[in-house]
Amino acid sequence: MDATFPTEFRAALLYALWTGLALGANALGIATLPGGAGLILIAGIALTSALFVGLARIPGDEQPTATTIIATQVLMGLIWATLYAYFASGTPLMAAGMYATAVGFGLHAILKILHGEKQQLLADNAQLQKDLETVKRRAERDQLTNAWGRRAILDMLAREKARAERTSEPLCVCLLDIDHFKDMNDRFGHVTGDRILAAFARRVRGALRTMDSVNANGLGSAMGRVGGEEFIVVLPLTSLRGALRSAERIRKAIVRRPFEGLYQVTVSIGIAELRPGETVSSLIDRADQALYGAKNAGRNRVHCATLDGGPNAIVMPDMSATG
Ligand code: GH3
Ligand code: MG
Ligand code: MG
Repeated sequence: MDATFPTEFRAALLYALWTGLALGANALGIATLPGGAGLILIAGIALTSALFVGLARIPGDEQPTATTIIATQVLMGLIWATLYAYFASGTPLMAAGMYATAVGFGLHAILKILHGEKQQLLADNAQLQKDLETVKRRAERDQLTNAWGRRAILDMLAREKARAERTSEPLCVCLLDIDHFKDMNDRFGHVTGDRILAAFARRVRGALRTMDSVNANGLGSAMGRVGGEEFIVVLPLTSLRGALRSAERIRKAIVRRPFEGLYQVTVSIGIAELRPGETVSSLIDRADQALYGAKNAGRNRVHCATLDGGPNAIVMPDMSATG
């Protein structure tokens, strides 16, 4: 409602206006009032106005609702107009005008309230939607690394697999596992381990961003945390060759310089490209086997699962170089 000029004052103003007009009409002889009636009407109307102004100032929960107050104001207006019509002799136009303005006033005020309530509801609803989105996003993200959570990234992978099958575009996954991370935790403590994990995820994201712009395929890569120090990177529209380039870029970004200038970290990566008709779990399995191969071969390297699903992973030459 209008905060600067509340309804009760507008109602009082309307009463005062009609009292003035009624007195004027009486003085001019257009609609004459018997002496006593005029006084009673004026006193009654002044009291009613004072009552409503006072009512609006009752603090707290005792307040009647705005619609109740307005309805009562209109009702009182109609009662006073009826009394006026009863006492005044002359033109009935005055009383008719009082009726019309009282009802118009009430309708206007109530419509205004309903409109305000609707706007408020809409605003509340929009805010609720926004909060819901925030909560959902937070639930889908891993708190420590801000990577997608396990569930979210596996859902994404399932969607990308369906798309890849529909469009016959290639799709690759990379499994990343930090080397000897247990040792790092043991040597530097869990808190430092957590910081390294977060920084690790940032570096991977940085490396992927540059690759995404190189690929310029419009379909971004996504990284999720699937275990303690294990991550999965989904590379849509990417063949084994492209995935190898991405994985190498990630591996190099990790070994390039120590974390926080102190902690030398390396990562092993296993890659697999989706084969026709293959399930997500088989795809991840093959990437995991490639990762296992990379670990066995000495870590800090990238291995690819063969496309034919055979037991021998492709070993990239010279992958252990730190350059
Ligand atoms: P490998 O090179 O074979 O991968 O050796 P690893 O030590 O990295 O592998 P392993 O799976 O034996 O150990 C993983 C360790 O990661 C165990 C646990 O201490 C640590 N870890 C898992 N989750 C977290 C975490 O959220 N925070 C921290 N600080 N450490 C974690
Ligand atoms: Mg592990
Ligand atoms: Mg590890």
